[in-house]
Amino acid sequence: MSTTLISLNSKAVKFTSTPKNMLINGQWVEAASGKRFETMNPANGEVITSVPEGDKEDINRAVAAARIAFDEGPWPKMKPAERAKLLFKFADLIEENAEELSHLETLDNGAPVNFTAGMASSAAENIRYHAGWATKITGETIPVSVPGNIFNYTRREPIGVCGQIIPWNAPLLMAVWKLAAPLSVGNTVVLKPAENTPLTALRLGELIQEAGFPDGVVNIVTGFGQTAGAALTAHPDVDKIAFTGSTAVGKQIMQAGAVNVKKVSLELGGKSAHIIFADADYDVALRNAANAIFMNSGQVCVAGSRLFVEKKIYDRFMSDLSEYTKNYRVGDGFDRSTVLGPLISEKQKNRVLNYLDIGQREGAELLVGGNTTASDLAKGHYVKPTVLANVTNDMRIAQEEIFGPVVSAMPFDDIDEVIKLANKTDYGLGGGICTTDVRKAHKVAHAMKTGNVWVNTYSLLDPASPFGGYKQSGIGRENGSASIDMYTEIKNVWINLD
Ligand code: NAP
Ligand code: MG
Repeated sequence: MSTTLISLNSKAVKFTSTPKNMLINGQWVEAASGKRFETMNPANGEVITSVPEGDKEDINRAVAAARIAFDEGPWPKMKPAERAKLLFKFADLIEENAEELSHLETLDNGAPVNFTAGMASSAAENIRYHAGWATKITGETIPVSVPGNIFNYTRREPIGVCGQIIPWNAPLLMAVWKLAAPLSVGNTVVLKPAENTPLTALRLGELIQEAGFPDGVVNIVTGFGQTAGAALTAHPDVDKIAFTGSTAVGKQIMQAGAVNVKKVSLELGGKSAHIIFADADYDVALRNAANAIFMNSGQVCVAGSRLFVEKKIYDRFMSDLSEYTKNYRVGDGFDRSTVLGPLISEKQKNRVLNYLDIGQREGAELLVGGNTTASDLAKGHYVKPTVLANVTNDMRIAQEEIFGPVVSAMPFDDIDEVIKLANKTDYGLGGGICTTDVRKAHKVAHAMKTGNVWVNTYSLLDPASPFGGYKQSGIGRENGSASIDMYTEIKNVWINLD
């Protein structure tokens, strides 16, 4: 396969040409230990640059800076319009540097440039949406019935220092989700990006400084989950933890947060059901079924990884889905024709391939996909988009999150059966429905025990729309007015007017 790679944006070349430092209290610093680690390009395994290996001591420094910025600094007391202005400036800077950010993301995470360009533009919009909230956060006056002449009202106040931990699958957008909402209401932040993808978070740190945020309001500590992440979660001066990542780590974070009863919000894994009814617009359903799982090479928490197809059309649908899937172009994210980039790491690739073995041993049939064979893909962590048929909902490949380009497909007979099957999972993040029957669409949407449902479309996101999970897919909602609830405390004030 011959490829023509677009050339790396010149600012991204410059950014990656030197070892990077991390941001604590407005300074770009090394780890206290002096240790560093390298970040790799998953398309070819080459080292991009190195970043500090922050650990407990660095987290202590960053939390101290965020604490002082919150308790004594101007940020939480700043007029809301002034805070909004800084956030709008930050969004403008993201837009001005969008190509650089997109290229850094593709370099570090492997996703195709068209996808990462979309992420950069969503990032700017997310900040603008939350900047708008800064001036619109109000309390209530409450008509209490207790005796006396009482004036009772509420205020919404920032929580304090927020420890924000993010995964590698959409690092730029996840960083912004963990910055825009808490900052809009006056919190300060310590952000820990994933060890596999630290670069765009660090570039955002530079833009934060360029926008003029006070020192210590945003601190970014690069490092490993078991050390830096765990230290942040357990730190007694951190008031809230917001985490996006796996359910297994989410459970540890809840336990660690108990030390000082931190407010904890979690966006965790998923095993989302995508239900195709026989009355669906066939071509739309086919396209949606494929895109729902293969976008970002399946490394998407809401990926439509369990595909339920009504029996009447199952055989034809599986055959057409296999053809459709074969045509996806797998390759380097800097090739404009690439639709599926590499997986993030060798470890993730092996995990996905292991699931293909498990699935086939369980009795599933591999219709298309599997390991890559092309020699020009040999150095990257590529897996072909894969369709597994003859799956039953109790198989491991139907219950466990694979987090790769693998769909597990099952036939169903009727609406009641498919609702039961769809809900038979520990997860509850996303769900999809393809039908032209509006009653069926609403009935199934209401019955799905998931935080997000898409009908005749899939995985749309908007900063105004709440996002999060039922069951073991999480606690809390990001975006929309829900994110303001998540990052504020409610204070109730009683005044005796007599
Ligand atoms: P992960 O292993 O849970 O890691 C997520 C983040 O937590 C990383 O920054 C990681 O650091 C850190 N971490 C690991 N162990 C920790 C600990 N003991 N204490 C504190 N922090 C710790 O998840 P991942 O493999 O990076 O990401 C894939 C998972 O994220 C999938 O399950 C996916 O569904 C989920 N996800 C969910 C959403 C959502 O919104 N619901 C969105 C995207 C992804 P290291 O990088 O050093 O490991
Ligand atoms: Mg990397």
